Amino acid sequence: MAAIDNLPPLRDVIEKHGLSARKSLGQNFLLDLNLTAKIARQAGDLTACDVLEIGPGPGGLTRGLLAEGARRVLAIEKDDRCMPALSEISEAYPNRLEVINGDALEIDPLGHLTQPIRVAANLPYNVGTELLVRWLTPKEWPPFWESLTLMFQREVAERIIAKPGSKAYGRLAILSQWRADARIVLHLPPEAFSPPPKVHSAVVHLKALETPRFEADAATLSRVVATAFNQRRKMLRSSLKSLTPDIEDRLVAAGIKPTDRAEVVSLEAFCALAREMAKN
Ligand code: SAM
Repeated sequence: MAAIDNLPPLRDVIEKHGLSARKSLGQNFLLDLNLTAKIARQAGDLTACDVLEIGPGPGGLTRGLLAEGARRVLAIEKDDRCMPALSEISEAYPNRLEVINGDALEIDPLGHLTQPIRVAANLPYNVGTELLVRWLTPKEWPPFWESLTLMFQREVAERIIAKPGSKAYGRLAILSQWRADARIVLHLPPEAFSPPPKVHSAVVHLKALETPRFEADAATLSRVVATAFNQRRKMLRSSLKSLTPDIEDRLVAAGIKPTDRAEVVSLEAFCALAREMAKN
């Protein structure tokens, strides 16, 4: 197996710095640097881009991104035990890696990055979905990022690309497909990680659209779909009643049958409903 850089193998890095995986931080590390370089390539040509990486851990994907030519990487990692290992990567790639020790849910990275910006991450899934929703729902569009290349549990990846009528269709599908092109670009078995998780994983690539597919206010659309899919088996006239007493009229005005269930309603129709809900 060809080395992608002159740094030690990840197993040695983990042993040297005592980085035993912590379940509480969702730590399942990628140890194969050829695989991390392959994931980095899914983010496209990075030579003219800054990359925001969340959760670098011992730095497998970070090394992949740098070896694949990223102009600069800003990596945010919560676990301070990883800092010495990440410093070694910084030294091997002078002026190209900045590391922030902190919680990605609390840090605003924008002051540290220059456009164009792409995002790459292998994160615990709860942090990943929370960040994904935030990155997809800013008030203004286009967002700060051109693309997101993110590892998820396979089941979450399938929810992102799901179509109406399927079990996986819900809030993540609607928010992702409203403002981005989303596709699964890589499948990974549990053995790709150390320790292996219980489930399969997949890498999703989301490319930001210039303008959203249909007009809607992000906060309103988000609230409508979250409420609709919270009780996905119920008819919309009942699951959405808590939003407004005249929900039946608004559903009809948006071209949706009040007796439909959320899982059969298209993205376009949900956007029409969000526009109706935004009216007085
Ligand atoms: N990127 C590495 C890799 O692929 O081997 C590590 C992946 S591991 C699944 C997830 C990483 O995210 C861990 O290093 C963990 O400490 C870090 N992490 C977890 N929650 C975080 C948060 N809120 N902010 C930043 N990093 C976090």
